[in-house]
Amino acid sequence: MNLKEEINRLRKEKNAVILAHYYQEGDIQDLADFVGDSLALAQWASRCTADILVMCGVHFMGETAKILCPDKKVLVPDLTAGCSLADSCPADRFADFVKAHPGHTVISYVNTSAAVKALTDVVVTSTNARQIVESFPQETPIIFGPDRNLGSYINAVTGRQMLLWDGACHVHEQFSVEKIVELKAAHPDAEVLAHPECKGAVLKLADVVGSTAALLKHAVKSPCRRFIVATEAGILHEMRKQCPDKEFIPAPPNAGICACNECNFMRLNTMEKLYACLRDESPAIEVDPDIAARAVKPIERMLDISRKLGL
Ligand code: SF4
Repeated sequence: MNLKEEINRLRKEKNAVILAHYYQEGDIQDLADFVGDSLALAQWASRCTADILVMCGVHFMGETAKILCPDKKVLVPDLTAGCSLADSCPADRFADFVKAHPGHTVISYVNTSAAVKALTDVVVTSTNARQIVESFPQETPIIFGPDRNLGSYINAVTGRQMLLWDGACHVHEQFSVEKIVELKAAHPDAEVLAHPECKGAVLKLADVVGSTAALLKHAVKSPCRRFIVATEAGILHEMRKQCPDKEFIPAPPNAGICACNECNFMRLNTMEKLYACLRDESPAIEVDPDIAARAVKPIERMLDISRKLGL
């Protein structure tokens, strides 16, 4: 069976769209109607007119799409595609943390469960986190969760002292400072691009810190010909597509030869599972209506602020 042809036939027949995150395998990105980072996927989902939306990403991305499009069928090729960062922030413990710090505005990264979003005042992504934090007066007491690295980075660049939840992504925590230093020495002409979920020591080595979309945009615009990229390795597919004459070197993880700079959750989605989920219209994401009703507000607030900021 030609999987690509079958997926194309099914998506037409069922009026379905396929959205893919930059961290998906290359074949899925090439086939998708839209490829983007978390903000762009949420923006796209909020405007979606198809009957079925297939979110090739991880569970929280499917939840966000379902919350924004409650009347649509939202499918994720592998429902077990979780996220270590979202898992580092269980809703019951986060609720206790929020309760212990009354009077704080709660800002949550999009990499959270719907139940955590329901406890949140405004959701952010790595594309808009700094600007959204800065949209609050400097003295506003803020709880920021769940990524301590992104939170520390925003504290550093904005001079804030947000209270941080102690969570992290297992992929972005893995990058080796020593190996990036070695790579920089071997390629002194290369720019280091890093995602703000990386540890502070890695961010200090970076020429550019930004979301996957921002790093991609920079790679396209920069006169530099070579880049060391410290984020999930899936983004290299789009970088190489858009800049075929430039070289992209994935930043190595601590563990050496293993592929720890690939997200094992993201890689659970495959072309075979994408085909099967379109054929069976399953597995579908469901979100408890009460949680969805509360979680939609901070997501829409983020989309609204992003619109006003032109993001
Ligand atoms: S790369 Fe990290 S933050 Fe992104 S989905 Fe995988 S575990 Fe979550």
